[in-house]
Amino acid sequence: MLETLTIRTQRTTASRLQHLDPDHIEFGKIFSDHMFAVDYHDGEWQNPQIVPYGDMAVSPANSALHYGQAIFEGMKAYKNAEGHIALFRPYDNLHRLNASAERMCMPTVPEELFMQGLTQLIRLDANWVPNAPGSALYIRPFMFATDGFIGVRPSDSYRFMIFTCPVGLYYNKPLRVRFEEKYVRSAEGGAGYAKNAGNYGAAMYPTKLAQQEGYNQLIWTDSSEHRYVEESGTMNAIFLIDGKVVTPALSTSILDGITRRSVLELARDWGMTVEERKVSATEIMAAQANGTLQEAFGVGTAATIAPIAVIGYQGQDYTLPTPGPDSFSQRMSAALSAIRTGDAPDTHGWMVEV
Ligand code: PMP
Repeated sequence: MLETLTIRTQRTTASRLQHLDPDHIEFGKIFSDHMFAVDYHDGEWQNPQIVPYGDMAVSPANSALHYGQAIFEGMKAYKNAEGHIALFRPYDNLHRLNASAERMCMPTVPEELFMQGLTQLIRLDANWVPNAPGSALYIRPFMFATDGFIGVRPSDSYRFMIFTCPVGLYYNKPLRVRFEEKYVRSAEGGAGYAKNAGNYGAAMYPTKLAQQEGYNQLIWTDSSEHRYVEESGTMNAIFLIDGKVVTPALSTSILDGITRRSVLELARDWGMTVEERKVSATEIMAAQANGTLQEAFGVGTAATIAPIAVIGYQGQDYTLPTPGPDSFSQRMSAALSAIRTGDAPDTHGWMVEV
């Protein structure tokens, strides 16, 4: 990575940091002082800059607003006991961002631009990275079309941006979920593997219906038969069945989660059997009935690991055992957290210092 990319930086004259109460940080509402922005025009990324976080002008005719040419990423930076800040697997986020970009006919972001934008922004707002246990800096890279043109075709111009927000300890209240057997999040051949804005907007209605029934989120099932598990809300789903780690295999309808990948890699390090394959709702319910379903949980950047307490299936709720401190999911959560804060060796080279 070159250290030379010049990013014009306009520092804020009115930092909002003193208004941050580190003990009461509400997710996604408080943004750090600065944001990174770079524009794509005439086939090139131009004029990278860091400016104070704030509103900006865009054409009301841009195709992000009308046709959903917009993609995003979600990642975190952690501060260790010595005050060093490190990113968790940022190159994985870059690769996924660029896979999403390709799917949406958008330009890819070069590694140097992504890494320099990220590191220079985080260094400038280093005091916004919380260091209380369980806290982190949530980072939102995103790209959207900027042409002022209403025709349905890929835009010629885009803006790539990054802003950040401090996040406190995520309270992992065990989830109530239910299998979704009517609506789908994505289908084979669709764009479910991409983090394009429309996937999330379209998932809100079925999720709202489930929430009205008292569930926190849905277990999405496949689009053709509604038999096989896809994901759990906006997390990948992992099960511990009879001592084996079982998770749906990746496909074009499932997001390739970086937490999922990390959990599977550590489970393999621990000598566990990991099965990436089709997992049917009936298999899960049979394992629940015969006592071999030991754990079920969602995994993602926001929560890391969110245990599932109740699964609704065909109108009936089934309760799962509560994972204790020696459970696979709790040990995995602690192991990931120790790597992120530098309390355990980073044997996979996941952490990248800022
Ligand atoms: N699935 C979906 C649909 C998501 O939006 C996310 C969050 N990015 C995940 C899974 C988990 O991915 P990650 O572990 O990379 O955050």
